[in-house]
Amino acid sequence: MIILGIESTAHTFGAALLDVQSFTEKKVLCNLRDLYTTEKGGLIPNKLAEHHEEVCDALLKKAFAQTGLSMQDVDLIALSNAPGLGHALKVGSLFARSLALIHKKPLVGVNHCIAHLEVASLVTQAKDPVLLYCSGANTQVIAYDGGKYRIFGETLDTGIGNFLDTFARDLGSGFPGGPKIEQLALSGKKYIPLPYSVKGMDVAFSGILTHLERKVIGKEKDEDIAFSVQETVFAMLVEVAERAMAHCDKRELVLGGGVACNKRLQEMCRLMCAARGAACYVPANEFLVDNAAMIAWTGWLMHVKGGVSDDPSTLQILPYERTDDVDVTWR
Ligand code: AMP
Ligand code: MG
Repeated sequence: MIILGIESTAHTFGAALLDVQSFTEKKVLCNLRDLYTTEKGGLIPNKLAEHHEEVCDALLKKAFAQTGLSMQDVDLIALSNAPGLGHALKVGSLFARSLALIHKKPLVGVNHCIAHLEVASLVTQAKDPVLLYCSGANTQVIAYDGGKYRIFGETLDTGIGNFLDTFARDLGSGFPGGPKIEQLALSGKKYIPLPYSVKGMDVAFSGILTHLERKVIGKEKDEDIAFSVQETVFAMLVEVAERAMAHCDKRELVLGGGVACNKRLQEMCRLMCAARGAACYVPANEFLVDNAAMIAWTGWLMHVKGGVSDDPSTLQILPYERTDDVDVTWR
C-alpha cells in the first residue's frame, strides 16, 4: 500500500511516500521537506502560508520523480490537520483535500503530536515508549495509558523551540535559532545560575526568558549564556520525562521534535535512561523534525488498523486539538 503523507502545521511543508505492507514490513520511499526560514526575526503566518503555497506542487512532483510513482499509485493520503498555525494548516488542507477529491483517494487527518510519537514504531524498535516531544510550539511528555495518549507534563507557556528561537533572536540570529544556540553553547565555559522552572509535571520558559532579557544578555558572554540556558532547560525536560517513565512504569524513552536534534539534550536523555536501566531511542534527524513520513505512517495506522477515514469535502483543520482529545482506535 502506498501512502502519501503531507505535513503543513507550521514552518515545514513536507511530502512523503511510504510503502507499507504490514506493521513490520514498511519502507520510507521518500521524505521531503521545505523549511521556511528567515535571516532576521520570527515566523510571520501569512508569509509562511505563501511559502507553503509556492513549494507544495514542486515538492509533490519531486517526490513522484524520485520514486518513479504517480498519483495513480497512491492508495491513501494522510494530512496533518491538527494542531498548528491556522495559515499553514489551511494550505495543507486545501492541497490534500483537492488531491483526494480529484483523484478519488481516501483521506485521513492526523494529529501532528501523535505522529511524533508513532514515528517511533516506524524507525525504532520502541514498543511502548514515553515521548519527550520538544518542538517549536509544543513541549509535552506523552505516553499511551488507559486507552489514550495522555499528556503527563507540558509547557505552561511557550514551547521549548520558540523559547530558544526568541532567545537566539535576542542575540541577533534569525529563525531557526536552536541550532545556533547549540553551536554557541559548545564554547561556553561558565555556568550562570538561571531560574529552574518545573511545576509539578509541567515546565515553564517565559520567566527564564524575561530573566535573560533583563538581567543576563549583554552582561555575560553569549556562549556562556547559551551553555547555561541549555543545561538548565534541558535538565527541566529530562526531569519531567523521567518522572513520567517512573509513574507509568515504562522502560523506553523516545525523543521527538526539532529541539531533540540537539546533541546535548540527547546525551542528557541517554544518561538518565542508562541510570534507570531504560532504553533511549533517538530517531534520525529527518524523523525528529516536522516531517511527512510520520504523518503517512500514522495515517496508515489510523486507516488500516483503526478504520479511520475522513470525508475529503468536509475534513476540517483543528488548530487547537490536543493530544488527549484524539480517540485512539488503532492500538
Ligand atoms: P519542529 O517544530 O519540531 O520542526 O522543531 C523546530 C524547532 O527546533 C525550532 O524551534 C528550532 O530552533 C529547533 N531546533 C532545531 N534544531 C535544533 C538544535 N540542534 N538544537 C536546539 N533546537 C533546535
Ligand atoms: Mg512538530
